[in-house]
Amino acid sequence: MEFCFNLKEYLVHPVNKELLWIKWIHDNYLKNRDVLTVNAIASNSWLWKQMLKIRDKAMTLIGGIDNLEHIIGSCYKNSKVKTSALYVALSPASLKVPWFNTIWERMNYPKNSIISWLAVQNRLLTQDMLLRMGTVFTNSCCLCSGAASESCDHLFFEFEFSKIVWNKIMKWIQFRWLSCVWNCLLEWYITSLRGKRFKQRIKRMAFNASLYRIWNERNARIFLQKSKGAD
Ligand SMILES: [Zn+2]
Repeated sequence: MEFCFNLKEYLVHPVNKELLWIKWIHDNYLKNRDVLTVNAIASNSWLWKQMLKIRDKAMTLIGGIDNLEHIIGSCYKNSKVKTSALYVALSPASLKVPWFNTIWERMNYPKNSIISWLAVQNRLLTQDMLLRMGTVFTNSCCLCSGAASESCDHLFFEFEFSKIVWNKIMKWIQFRWLSCVWNCLLEWYITSLRGKRFKQRIKRMAFNASLYRIWNERNARIFLQKSKGAD
């Protein structure tokens, strides 16, 4: 028998209606209305308004309730919507970026991967970014007493502290190839450190953890006036 998923029924009577946040949304915002058609009012919270905006965008992208119902139905397994399947179904098809395995190594702490993910796309809020955004008016690296300007390249491997940290890490995990140049390093990881062997994975983990630690140290020095030694 073909399984027929009814989205409206699911939304009005969700499986986990007893969960506190679902209860709260129903009592405060929905009040027996349907989340697919309810409109925001001025007194609603910013978050709720944003969620409804995203709902409208998603609806336009997918082409209406019927299509959405079909997609959710296809992700419904063992009486539950499988979130990962839904995410894949709703994501536009895209090519895998070359640094995917380097950054999203499974052994990484997720918080380390997030910082590296921003760094490889040059999206961390280093001073060169803030200058471009007009948030600051000069760019001089506070960590080198203003002798250089701050960018991802500078911060992660040119800055003296980072160089020491990275050299020590490389020595510790017995890298034979040594470099403190961001682009070369990333390129080398992408082309030569792709394997699934344990040692390769540890090396990827070391790269991501180092970026995270250096970024943390930079923030502690700037915002908390606290500093740790490279050791
Ligand atoms: Zn510096």
